[in-house]
Amino acid sequence: MRLSAVLLLVSTLVGGSVAIKTLVFPSATSTSYVEMVPLKPLNLRAFTLCMRVATELSGEREIILFAYRTQHFDELNVWRELNGSLSFYMSGDGAFFNVPQLGALQTHLCVTWDSASGAAALFMDGRKSLTKIYKKNHTVRPGGKVIIGQDPDNYVGSFEGHQSFVGEIGDISMWDTVLSQSAIREMFSGNTVARGNVLDWQTTELKTHGEVKVVNIEL
Ligand code: CA
Ligand code: CA
Repeated sequence: MRLSAVLLLVSTLVGGSVAIKTLVFPSATSTSYVEMVPLKPLNLRAFTLCMRVATELSGEREIILFAYRTQHFDELNVWRELNGSLSFYMSGDGAFFNVPQLGALQTHLCVTWDSASGAAALFMDGRKSLTKIYKKNHTVRPGGKVIIGQDPDNYVGSFEGHQSFVGEIGDISMWDTVLSQSAIREMFSGNTVARGNVLDWQTTELKTHGEVKVVNIEL
């Protein structure tokens, strides 16, 4: 059993509580963002990226959910599109998924991609979307910054308020493999699976800028 699991168990047995941090972006800005420091370079031939997200900006505009940008390219962006669909883009055209709208209640969201097959899928609250074939043989390149809350159009800059994230987002973790469907279902249910080896929400260093609030939520 991992130490974290032991601590969780002990804490539960003695009636204590466990807290997890979450990010609240109260309003649209072009200045508020959080940089997540990865555990290793994002040199990726496959990934699973998960988060919990809630926003009341339904159907009003596009919203950036995750941005990883190197000097010259949007290496990996996840978006809520204007029409409510969810998408991700790796240096060019995107993969789009016509899923139910995000709303005020938290959604557990994961995106998976594998370069060898090009298989791309999205999971909402543990349910898998159809698989799409996207960017077979592509590589996500290292040397960039992971930004939550804004879409950088240059290296950590050129943010636009009308693309900013407004709402609550957290539990952002990333693996350099495609996790199994059962692992993603477990994660949605709140059970700890293997911690992210690229981004680990429990231990990641967060560099906050602007009016974003880091709030601790008791589980
Ligand atoms: Ca932009
Ligand atoms: Ca951009």
